[in-house]
This record gives sequence, C-alpha cells and structure tokens, in this order.
Amino acid sequence: MAATVVAHPLIKHKLTLMRRKETSTVNFRALLSEISMLLAYEALRDIKLTEEDIETPLAKIKAPVVDGKKLVLIAIMRAGAGIVDGMLKIVPNARVGHIGLFRDPKTLQPVEYFYKVPNDLSDRDVIVCDPMLATGNSAVAAVERVKKSKPASLRFVCLLACPEGIATFEKGHPDVPVYTAAIDERLNDHGYIVPGLGDAGDRLFGTK
Ligand code: URA
Repeated sequence: MAATVVAHPLIKHKLTLMRRKETSTVNFRALLSEISMLLAYEALRDIKLTEEDIETPLAKIKAPVVDGKKLVLIAIMRAGAGIVDGMLKIVPNARVGHIGLFRDPKTLQPVEYFYKVPNDLSDRDVIVCDPMLATGNSAVAAVERVKKSKPASLRFVCLLACPEGIATFEKGHPDVPVYTAAIDERLNDHGYIVPGLGDAGDRLFGTK
C-alpha cells in the first residue's frame, strides 16, 4: 500500500519550522502537536460513523457521530507521545496505548520492554504513531506486536519518512496504510533521516 503524503501547505510550512535547528523545544512541541492534528484529519478520513438522535433548535434529526472510544492511539515511546498529544486534541475520547522498544546492541533488532494498550482491541480502530519512519525496524516490530491484539483496523502515522523506512514497513506490513507529512531524501549511516530534523525525541523533550 503506497504511503499517503499529506501535502497540505500548512503542514509543509509547519514542518519547515520544525526542521530549523534553532527552533526551540517549546515551538517544536507545539508544531508537532499542530501537524499531528492535521495528519489525524487525513488518517481518519474513512473512519466509521454512527447516528445519534439529536435536536437542533428547529428539528429532530439523526446526526453522524464518531465513537471516539473505539479509537486507540498507540505511541511508540518516546517521541510517538508528541503525535498522540496532538491527535487527542481533535479526538479527545480516543484511548491511548504505549509501546516501548529498544535496539539490541548485538542483533540490532528491536526488543519490547513495555506494552500497555486498552483491553480488547477487536472492535477498535488503532493508529500507531512515531514521528520518524527511519530504518522502519521499530515501526515494523511495533505494528507486529499490535497485530497480535487483533484490532479492527490499523494505520501508521509519522511526521517524516524516508524511502528506506517505507520500503521496510511495506515489506513487513503491506496491509497497513502509512500517513506522513513528507518523504525525505534518504537515511544516513547512523539511521537518521536526511535532511530530516535531527532526533525527534531530544527535540521534543529538550534532552540534548
Ligand atoms: N529517529 C529520529 O529521531 N530522527 C531520525 O532522523 C531518525 C530516527
């Protein structure tokens, strides 16, 4: 499944501000939150609606509503939390899960150290979130883990991707749609996206 690049002018503008190395932690955080709202708008375009009986000041109607509780946003720790925070602003009833993975220094493969998601995903639509789809290894492992919980549907949302990460992800999960704000040129030898924006976690949390 081809990745969807949500190429809206507002997203492009905000992403440029995020990329600038002089952008402060405060602004980086706010911009990630704003872009994440816009990414959610696209990623949830085909979300199911139910109908509710309501009364306007003029009439009784059946009106469409999203069942936010059926939606689960899963952050790949730690930077995925920045995307989830933004998405929660437009789907405040969504449930939240976390998955933590580290890279085994010997095998270089992702190893799970934390997994907490809402019980019973079988009737819930899940979005797995991580700002950077770089090597793609942790995204593939995270989605593999979530698939074991058998969600009703699954999507992956990132801020930035690169061709290598998309190829790895699509090989691992051809059935899972990917939404991103941009696809950058390449991955460097240290596993960073170029031109990218640096370490998303450090920039989000001010840890460097
Ligand atoms: N993780 C990051 O934070 N940045 C990258 O460029 C790649 C992975």
